[in-house]
Amino acid sequence: MIELIFLGTSASVPSVERGLPALLVRFGRNRLLVDCGEGTQRQLLRSGAKFHRLDRILLTHAHLDHVLGLGGLTATLALNPRPGGVTIHGGAATLGFVRRYLLDGVWGGAAPPLALKFALVTQGLVFADSGNRVDAFAVRHRDTDSYGFRFVTAPRRHLIPERLAALGIPAGPARRALARGRAVVLDDGRRIAADEVLGPEVPGTSLAVVGDTGETASLVDAVRGVDALVIEASFLERDRRLARERGHLTAADAGRLAAEAGVGALYLNHISERYPPDQLLDEARRQFPRAILAEDLMVVTVGRERMRAV
Ligand SMILES: [Zn+2]
Ligand SMILES: [Zn+2]
Repeated sequence: MIELIFLGTSASVPSVERGLPALLVRFGRNRLLVDCGEGTQRQLLRSGAKFHRLDRILLTHAHLDHVLGLGGLTATLALNPRPGGVTIHGGAATLGFVRRYLLDGVWGGAAPPLALKFALVTQGLVFADSGNRVDAFAVRHRDTDSYGFRFVTAPRRHLIPERLAALGIPAGPARRALARGRAVVLDDGRRIAADEVLGPEVPGTSLAVVGDTGETASLVDAVRGVDALVIEASFLERDRRLARERGHLTAADAGRLAAEAGVGALYLNHISERYPPDQLLDEARRQFPRAILAEDLMVVTVGRERMRAV
């Protein structure tokens, strides 16, 4: 299962309604933060998620609106340090900045009281756990060292109801064990192997998260076919030139990418106060009808949207 909580959905500066960029991803038994804008720790509290099991932070890039919250968040985590510490994942330039900010700035050159680990992101695997995996792909955003992230849960096999009925397997623990791939012995002594009742492997749920980006052509393959795409929509098409100058997308760009890559749902993020939100949404929906404008504290279960859309 992949669940998202949008903690901060604004662009560059916060507004009354929107905090700076941060996205909490519940991914199997992991909880990860993608970006950590200023104020993220309070948004974690407001969301009810708190700091529970938060042991990885993935950074798209080191612009201040995406990373300044790390100082406050790590200072809070240090008050009650967990055994495994916190791992911060980012590209080389991103980690360079974050290390200086945290180790030299916040902690003044002394060893921080929590185990802070820094993991270099390059294209490809970021980490894997129980068949779930996160991969990184390069993103072009001004002069930064930016990455997007693709999350995929482990492929699954589902029970075939007709086979369960034909074999007379009762609802309850036997079916649950078979669903997990384990053989069972029924009360009448028959041994049933999982392969007898499980269908073919189906792909897991997938999510792509892109932070800021100045173009979409290089992203089509990286986000192709995901159940949900989260991406910035900082400008309207009428300010397309300004968007390009600043290394950002228009809402129409985001919609066109979603359509071309055949994603299940599109969440527009990095929202500027410059525009009425409805205009951003309308512009994206003209390209991709299943676009949704992210709001702070919005919770999304990835994969459900596609079913609703059919
Ligand atoms: Zn930004
Ligand atoms: Zn940026």
